[in-house]
Amino acid sequence: MNAIEPLLSVRDLRVSFALDEGLVRAVDGTSFDVMPGQVLGVVGESGCGKSVTMRAILQLIDRPGRITNGEIRFRRDDGVVDLARLEPRSAAMRDIRGAEIALIPQEPMAAFSPVHTVGDQIVEAILLHSHRWQPGKRMGRSEARDITVGLFRDVGISMPEQRIDAYSWQLSGGLRQRAMIAMALSCKPRLLIADEPTTAIDVTTQAQVLALLRDLQERYNTAIIFITHDLGVIAQMASYVVVMYLGRVMEEGPVDDIFHAPKHPYTKALLRSIPSLYGQTRVALPVISGALPHPFNRPPGCPFHPRCPDAMPRCSDAVPKLMPVPPNQFASCFLHHEEVDPA
Ligand code: SF4
Repeated sequence: MNAIEPLLSVRDLRVSFALDEGLVRAVDGTSFDVMPGQVLGVVGESGCGKSVTMRAILQLIDRPGRITNGEIRFRRDDGVVDLARLEPRSAAMRDIRGAEIALIPQEPMAAFSPVHTVGDQIVEAILLHSHRWQPGKRMGRSEARDITVGLFRDVGISMPEQRIDAYSWQLSGGLRQRAMIAMALSCKPRLLIADEPTTAIDVTTQAQVLALLRDLQERYNTAIIFITHDLGVIAQMASYVVVMYLGRVMEEGPVDDIFHAPKHPYTKALLRSIPSLYGQTRVALPVISGALPHPFNRPPGCPFHPRCPDAMPRCSDAVPKLMPVPPNQFASCFLHHEEVDPA
């Protein structure tokens, strides 16, 4: 048993969207932990429920979606709070969102207001949560501006004194993403949720932003949940990986175990579908057979069974639980249940 308590513990989380066409179970019983200072990679194809899970943690689910079950236990200085029980607009949730858990979205343009300078927006965020920087002391605007300049420097923005007076639309995509990271760090969060943060930027800038996030995680010891469909990014960033499919966790484990000895057929298929991490990029890549089912047509039993090369008759009847697969992984697959539960 790990003596260190998780910073975040998600248990049997379910999120549904009641649409005219029917009920969409976007997150269907997801559980995972994030340890303090850990970089957790959450990976899966588009539509697998990764982003909805993260928005549920922040209580940012748009209607008609809602959390229908589960716990999201977050450790604060004064104890553990179940975020799933907090009202999305409550003062407690607003205090946690932004100050203790921050989000780096895919598209930073949408995160900044175009009518205020980027620096002013970060200064406001620092003043709003100034207790994170100076407990028990009032902070003036010029101090908050100095902190903002320092953050710009930390995230590698040159000429920070000038750039904080720019509007978001005056910055390049890479600079906007760096400014967004500065904004996310402005409240010294314990947990940073990075939702495909490099999707909207070019490959060179992407590598710089990944290196920056790694560096900042070490410097601030901030835990990061890194969401991506790109296993190559996971290999660079994460120490532990959660693989999601149709709103459920298919497999989880340390990054080395997942890459070198994947247990779940879906993880194996995902790994086969990416370019070699060791440079053999000029090969035709196999794709995962079949398509992600439409959310209204969720298959019974194991959600992966219509696409699984190893499917057995029982796979369409019952949902496999997430079970330990020695030495270090967990998998939701009947192939491995028999190893630990021969009955
Ligand atoms: Fe494949 Fe069955 Fe395992 Fe699901 S439970 S991944 S269908 S073998």
